[in-house]
Amino acid sequence: MKIHEYQAAALFAAYGVRVPEGQMAKTVAEAEAAARALGEGPFVIKAQVHSGGRGKAGGVKFANTPGEAAEKAKEILGMTLVTKQTGPQGRVVQKVLVSRAMEIAREYYLSLTVDGARERVVLIASPAGGMEIEETAKTSPEKIYTMEIDPYLGMTGYQAREMGKKLGLSAAEIKQFIPLCKNLYRLFTEKDCSLVEINPLAIDGAGDLVAADAKINFDDNALFRHVEIGEMRDTNEEEPRETEAAKYDLNYIGLDGDIGCMVNGAGLAMATMDIIQAFGGSPANFLDVGGSATAEKVAGAFSILLADSKVKCIFINIFGGIMRCDVIAEGVVEAARKLAVKVPLVVRLEGTNAEAGKKILGGSGLNITAAADMADGAEKACRLAKEARG
Ligand code: GDP
Ligand code: MN
Repeated sequence: MKIHEYQAAALFAAYGVRVPEGQMAKTVAEAEAAARALGEGPFVIKAQVHSGGRGKAGGVKFANTPGEAAEKAKEILGMTLVTKQTGPQGRVVQKVLVSRAMEIAREYYLSLTVDGARERVVLIASPAGGMEIEETAKTSPEKIYTMEIDPYLGMTGYQAREMGKKLGLSAAEIKQFIPLCKNLYRLFTEKDCSLVEINPLAIDGAGDLVAADAKINFDDNALFRHVEIGEMRDTNEEEPRETEAAKYDLNYIGLDGDIGCMVNGAGLAMATMDIIQAFGGSPANFLDVGGSATAEKVAGAFSILLADSKVKCIFINIFGGIMRCDVIAEGVVEAARKLAVKVPLVVRLEGTNAEAGKKILGGSGLNITAAADMADGAEKACRLAKEARG
């Protein structure tokens, strides 16, 4: 799960990481009041969307007075911000963060994330921080330093010091850098983060280290033990189909194609997407209903596919092992009773209670094309989707 910069900054502050003073605003009037409350300018007004690269896309603007802050907020609120991370459709900005702008002497990059291959949390830092970090990663990767953190020792002072030296920080700066790294690591582990990133970590006019930007992603599988983090979820920023899928605890990822897929098991789901592509089609989603889905869960999953206007055909590809084919069939029929099914269904049922499942679907009055096997199903689904596209 992702959160906004203003929320991440509040968490940073709670963990003793310095951030600029600021306040979130949803309207122009709120933005002006926020600037007034800060007192002296200059101010920085930043679009709050779940995406980086806002600066380059015009989502970060400076103002000298509260009136000017209001003008900049007016420009940003409601704009569709198109960054490298949002894709061409962009994101409509609904909130801004109004902060006191600081004088930035130098910009560094600093983050903690999990390196799956090394099975360790890693500290990543670079003296070439700021908006060009992606470019630096491509052109001069030697300027990006990575250190593994031992899970038993945690973030040690000597590691943080070594990293500070690599960055070329002065002794006074390293004195601040060590507790900064330790605090970030405490935040990372206590809140089960998957990424904590400060870019830029700024040295301000007074020589202090301040997090001029704040980004935190959380491990979804650990959210159950952080109710207060779950409450920060902003569904406006999330793909609506995925928000709906989360309600039913489904493994669902929205894609751009037009063949809705309902599959059990992640491996079979991936193979299904591959075989659809192999037959010239394009999947509208990845969906694994899991091994022990109830009819209700299946109905929820099927409803998501039906509600997706891009979907021209649905391919149900089930290999019943632990999952029973009749439960899948019941779920499909239950959802079809509530929602109009306007698209053709291609069904391949194999395994436990396959015959019972086929009987339920056969008697449902739905427009079903039976598939002999997976390849036959994929081929038929691709053909039907193509016909529907015209
Ligand atoms: P991002 O582009 O989405 O990563 O947004 P950032 O919050 O990092 O802002 C983009 C850039 O604006 C930063 O890399 C800084 O160079 C600059 N910036 C942000 N806040 C301040 C500030 O308070 N003072 C100054 N001088 N520059 C800032
Ligand atoms: Mn940034």
